[in-house]
Amino acid sequence: MASERTLVIVKPDGVQRGLVGEIISRLERRGLRIVALDFRVIDPAVSSVHYAEHRGKPFYAGLVEYIGSGPSVIMVLEGPDVIRAVRTTVGVTNPAEAAAGTIRGDLGLERGRNLIHASDGAESASREIDLFFGDRMPLSYERDIDRWIVE
Ligand code: UDP
Ligand code: MG
Repeated sequence: MASERTLVIVKPDGVQRGLVGEIISRLERRGLRIVALDFRVIDPAVSSVHYAEHRGKPFYAGLVEYIGSGPSVIMVLEGPDVIRAVRTTVGVTNPAEAAAGTIRGDLGLERGRNLIHASDGAESASREIDLFFGDRMPLSYERDIDRWIVE
């Protein structure tokens, strides 16, 4: 399958809890390639666009506050079927319901502190990569090991 890209955010709770390495490591160990990486406090102007689909919902104000409450790690990951693969590794939105073995299921307890964001489809991935990285294009490169990960 052709390579695709997805946007992943280790949210401020992941940074504060010292779980950046653990979370990136789980995704990297799946074989995914990091093609862009940034560390910054997400601006409300950006989070309001990123979470526009949730505007008006009861958790919206808390969500925008949470996502801007400290630095986040923002990255683009690449691999075959990466959008689906990452969502599976992340687990469902509510960590209390997320399967053991997933990032949210192993490391989180509540929806409002669920550690990580991952794009949910091709359209949102492309929109989110553009929103967070703009003209700072993700890199294209190969690793020697890729032929042992991708057929
Ligand atoms: N969220 C929340 N309460 C809810 C639903 C969502 O705090 O009842 C937050 C949570 O941080 C979630 C984000 O809003 O990750 C976006 O919600 P979405 O339904 O898109 O979940 P996701 O795609 O992150 O699994
Ligand atoms: Mg979502």
